[in-house]
Amino acid sequence: MTSECLFCRIAAGEIPAEVVRETPTTLAFRDIDPKAPSHVLVIPRTHHPDVAALAAADPGLAGEVLATAAAVARAEGLAGPGFRLIFNTGAHGGQEVPHVHAHVLGGAPLGPMLA
Ligand code: 5GP
Repeated sequence: MTSECLFCRIAAGEIPAEVVRETPTTLAFRDIDPKAPSHVLVIPRTHHPDVAALAAADPGLAGEVLATAAAVARAEGLAGPGFRLIFNTGAHGGQEVPHVHAHVLGGAPLGPMLA
């Protein structure tokens, strides 16, 4: 937990969020500004700046984030029609919140990623 980190503060319950799934090590909550009909963010409760840092520090926890993202996709009804899973990473990757998070996006055809 870092006191300045927005997603650490959400994980600690200090800032409200619409939580859709919790595990002992991960938290999933709806994006405040959804970019698709279903847009959920999945974070590890512990602070890691991005997915590369998480994978290096704790690959097991990285797997738990993926498992929670897959469970969210199933619960949101996205597993059949499909969904997009994104880890924006660093400045060029468009990452705005420096606490690793997976975006789970779906609920409509999203089109090609790099069109
Ligand atoms: P990034 O650009 O870092 O990959 O994505 C950050 C995401 O966090 C954005 O989609 C943004 O809408 C979302 N976000 C920013 N602040 C908050 C907040 O206070 N609550 C929630 N639920 N989402 C947030």
